[in-house]
Amino acid sequence: MVELALRTHCPYCAYQCGIRMSDAAEAILGDPHFPVNNGQLCIKGWSAGALLRHPQRLTTPLVRDSRKDDFRPADWDEALDRIADAMRRTREQYGPDANAMFGSGALTNEKVYLLGKFARLALGTANIDYNGRYCMSSAAGGNNRAFGVDRGMPFPVNDIGEAELIVLIGSNCADTLPPIMQWFQKQKANGGRVIVIDPRRTSTARSADLHLQTTPGTDLALANGLLYLAIELDLLNREYITTRTNGFDAVRATVLNDHPARTERITGVGEPLLRQAIKWMSAAKSCMFLTGRGAEQHSKGVDTVNAWTNLALALGLPGKPQSGYGTLTGQGNGQGGREHGQKADQLPGYRLIENPDHREAMAKFWGVPAESLPRKGKSAYELIDALGESPGTAVPGLSPIRTLFVMGSNLVVASPDVNRTVARLKATDFLAVADSFLNETSQIADVVLPVYQWAEENGTMTNFEGRVIRRRQTALAPTGVRGDLDILRELADRLGCGDKFAFNSAREVFDEFRRATAGGTADYSGITYEKIEANEGVFWPCPAEDHPGTPRLFADRFFHPDGKAKFLPVEHRPAGDTPDAAFPYLFTTGRYKEHYNSGVQTRQVGELTKAKPGPLLQVHPTLARRHGIAGGNLVTLESRRGRAEFRVDVTPDIRPDTLFAPFHWGGREGANLLIGGFLDPVSRMPEFKLAAVRVVSVSKS
Ligand code: SF4
Repeated sequence: MVELALRTHCPYCAYQCGIRMSDAAEAILGDPHFPVNNGQLCIKGWSAGALLRHPQRLTTPLVRDSRKDDFRPADWDEALDRIADAMRRTREQYGPDANAMFGSGALTNEKVYLLGKFARLALGTANIDYNGRYCMSSAAGGNNRAFGVDRGMPFPVNDIGEAELIVLIGSNCADTLPPIMQWFQKQKANGGRVIVIDPRRTSTARSADLHLQTTPGTDLALANGLLYLAIELDLLNREYITTRTNGFDAVRATVLNDHPARTERITGVGEPLLRQAIKWMSAAKSCMFLTGRGAEQHSKGVDTVNAWTNLALALGLPGKPQSGYGTLTGQGNGQGGREHGQKADQLPGYRLIENPDHREAMAKFWGVPAESLPRKGKSAYELIDALGESPGTAVPGLSPIRTLFVMGSNLVVASPDVNRTVARLKATDFLAVADSFLNETSQIADVVLPVYQWAEENGTMTNFEGRVIRRRQTALAPTGVRGDLDILRELADRLGCGDKFAFNSAREVFDEFRRATAGGTADYSGITYEKIEANEGVFWPCPAEDHPGTPRLFADRFFHPDGKAKFLPVEHRPAGDTPDAAFPYLFTTGRYKEHYNSGVQTRQVGELTKAKPGPLLQVHPTLARRHGIAGGNLVTLESRRGRAEFRVDVTPDIRPDTLFAPFHWGGREGANLLIGGFLDPVSRMPEFKLAAVRVVSVSKS
């Protein structure tokens, strides 16, 4: 019997399940004492030990002498010297903003903080952003506009079990966060109901009481249509609107045209279902709206989130027990990853880089003049688009970005318009990647650094509830591998900034950054490792060591200066890419429960690739008949940007006008080959969930 004495958290999604593992991770079980998953795990969590002892794991730095050469092993000093030399050379020739850093929602809070500090202090560049821009930025933007704060879920997950009605908008959480379903089961046992809004009949939709199978990209119109009916049927919470919010009259004027016939024309959802849904929402004693990436990854993602916050506020839900609006964060540290300074527009503690008071506070903390801090930089996709010399893509009058360091992101698979992304990455003078496996991005790099994995180092993560937890070191890393914190310190030292990066452990970095957040919106200053251990995590804000943390927000006030929430007038608008006679179908993307994001880790695990060896294109039988497509055929799709090939699954679970494929794979099966770089004007989120496509060819082999 293997002893499972070691406790840490899963390497993958924002649910951050507690796990127990044996020495060397030979066995992994769910941790029954962690109150979020209560011992449950999904298949990714069970099999995560295979990542640690994987034969393909990188254990030595790789360098190449020119882009024409293959990689050769190098020692750490050579690899780090090459990166530091490239950064120094770039800064001297083209200025500080020609260097860029690209981070990740998988990094610990300590790494996120240090990466942002490294970019601003050691490089002096404005250009740092991360792959969470592709994940949570629209929800973050909508939350900030409506409530004055961005904590994805303003309540703990167990509140789901007590809610009378849950409305899931664009989330297939039965597949993406399987242990969350224990709370839905409890909710159902208590007599609760679930409405799912999704273009696909997913596992989650199948278990719902009501499924509204919307046209992709129309969740905003649906929310406005429901608000129209709430006004018509006099279902508003007028006292709440008067005492706790601002701006309702402008929103009422905006939705006057969103009558059921118009809503049905746009969304595909008929009037009887609209009326049933709004009656359930207004009659429930407690009701939660939870959005996922299906609603958010659009060029109108922020407005879509605010259409739902408008409806929630009109019904008086936010701040009421077991009620309100929340978003189901995706990446492991998707929440903490957007709080501590790796976003182009942010400084630690969720401070804004263009706010003079916030700049002053961080400059004072770091002991530098406020005017020396860089300004706001380019968002993720704009940063990629500015790589290398490229007339027509780089911002006129500014040097393009020449050197890029990527920490924990597989940009080639995760970014939109993959052909363009690859061309831009190849156009850099110098590309460095830190990861534990070679992936589609590191394969075109100049230097690759092999780094510790999840169980091999200490740090903190902030899960989707805003609960700060400890990733504990429970395994020894292979010889030759180093940590991301170590790499940043070594590079800072080589760039003459070592005095600002003097720490001996992740705990020391944590203690620095929690002090840095004092007075910020995401205030961690009262959180200590000991407090996390004693309480199975601490919810921010936690402004003092004797403060218990804040599991539930908004009971008395919102975070805007007057304490009120804001209605935002928002209107439906077409997607950046719309179908026409040449590209007649809608294409949308999503996830399998066996794989995680760009697949760098999960495509290495035999158990997962055996269960899901590749992507399947969901095709409705009507569309399949039109093109002579049968299950198992190989279909080539084309959008205005590129082509991708998929094996087919013919299924009535998808709308007849829509095709679906997951995006976990690269090469010709890369779903993001078809996706365009249309960005939300507020969040700069690319429109991952929609492209207009056509069927180019069908083959049996
Ligand atoms: Fe839990 Fe997410 Fe890990 Fe699955 S992938 S075990 S849901 S943290």
